[in-house]
Amino acid sequence: MQLARLVETVQRVRATTKKSEKIRLLAECLGQVNGREAVLAALYLTGSLPQGKIGIGWSVIQKAMHDAPASGEPLMLSDVDRLMDVLAAERGAGSMDRRILALSNLFSRANPQERTFLSQLLIGEVRQGALEAVLLDAIAAAAGLPAAEVRQAFMFAPNIGDLAQAALEEQSAGLARFSMRLFVPVAPMLANSAEDVDEALQRLDRAVFEYKLDGARVQVHKGGDDVRVFTRQLQDITGRLPEIVEWARNLPVREAVLDGEAIALRPDGRPQPFQTTMRRLGRIKDVAAMRESIPLSPFAFDALYLDGSSLLTQSYEERLRALATMTPAELIPHVVTSQPEEARRFLAQSLAAGHEGVMAKSPTAPYVAGQRGYHWLKLKEATSLDLVILAAEWGNGRREGWLSNLHLGARDPSSGHFVMLGKTFKGLTDEMLRQQTEQLLSLETHREEHTVFVKHQMVVEIAFSDIQESPRYPAGLALRFARVKRYRPDKTPDQADTIQTVSELFRAQRN
Ligand code: AMP
Repeated sequence: MQLARLVETVQRVRATTKKSEKIRLLAECLGQVNGREAVLAALYLTGSLPQGKIGIGWSVIQKAMHDAPASGEPLMLSDVDRLMDVLAAERGAGSMDRRILALSNLFSRANPQERTFLSQLLIGEVRQGALEAVLLDAIAAAAGLPAAEVRQAFMFAPNIGDLAQAALEEQSAGLARFSMRLFVPVAPMLANSAEDVDEALQRLDRAVFEYKLDGARVQVHKGGDDVRVFTRQLQDITGRLPEIVEWARNLPVREAVLDGEAIALRPDGRPQPFQTTMRRLGRIKDVAAMRESIPLSPFAFDALYLDGSSLLTQSYEERLRALATMTPAELIPHVVTSQPEEARRFLAQSLAAGHEGVMAKSPTAPYVAGQRGYHWLKLKEATSLDLVILAAEWGNGRREGWLSNLHLGARDPSSGHFVMLGKTFKGLTDEMLRQQTEQLLSLETHREEHTVFVKHQMVVEIAFSDIQESPRYPAGLALRFARVKRYRPDKTPDQADTIQTVSELFRAQRN
């Protein structure tokens, strides 16, 4: 293929914002290449070179461009590849001049658009993840394969060029070379952060919430009695973890790959500090003695492979079901919910048990190896609670005439009543003062001195620094440094946080 044809495709792809059109253009281009050209086309289209980073800067490019007269045969992709080989091989004394010469040879056969494209390739300016995702779909279209099959194979292919060649020349049979294999570790799926339960549920709608343990990520491969354990960086640490190996040997399956966390626990089941788990993991010698003093416990949260088949494209819910049949005892504690209150209670439970927080995972997502996406979200703290306004006090000074200091309560599901946890007038803007005065007066039940009591209907989100013991309040607990974050008109009082959640949070912060 001529470079000009590829550059024209790049320009047309850039000119449209429509994803389907981009895929069509790229697929059309890929339909015209095979062999090494397929490798080159796919790499060039995503802005990379088979030679990797050549390390050429703008000044060299400018000099070469300046020296290059326009002449010679049109450039083929294979010509570019050969000249890039020459460029990459130039090292040592005088290499700068030789590179300029090699580059001006390349440029002399290129038109202005090709020159710009080649320069961007050399500098690494074209590279971007979004392009890769579109190209994977285009490879699927050009090869007549399902996009999911191509995407999965990409997780195991050395690069997108080899993947394109295999897909275009041999379709499914070619892609089968890039599949999950026992004892070859997979880059672990990673998580982004979410600020709170609400954000996580906004993104995922319904989620699997799991304890987030502060231990070490382990990927365990089992084939009969053979077991290998890999770290998050894919390092083989089998020899250091005999108890994990024994556990895996005893799983009731022939072949499996499990993802999980190994963690040192205290005799009472609470987690040891992260450093303790790490000390054990770092130890290569005297493993038997170390195992005695710091035993590690396995907790599995994912199954990637089972008896000859990869589970990566299955939904998380399906993978969890497979996992539950193998390791019911070591399954990480989890709940599946779309209810913020239930999720918050679970987060409080995890914190109370001494763990770091929770993970929220999409029940429908596949296992996307190596990706830090939004299918998995980590939540480390419960920073706010949704509470109900029980009463409000008239303000003074600048706030004279407005209902200001709010009395806040958490729900007690056993009695159906609300338990007061404190008061706050912080975080309220003038507009909020106006709005709440109007709304609260319409909910008034009675007054005592300067306090207006109201029907328990208005829900507010309250941020706070911590929970403290307080004999003044009925639950013996009060919020410290409470501040109104926002009103929650989308919530009814029976969706407010419960007093159990508050107690769990209180226990969590004391441990
Ligand atoms: P972070 O290291 O803060 O980015 O959090 C991601 C890490 O949390 C993962 O690599 C795991 O080692 C760890 N982790 C603990 N519990 C879980 C869980 N339930 N699901 C996934 N990862 C977990």
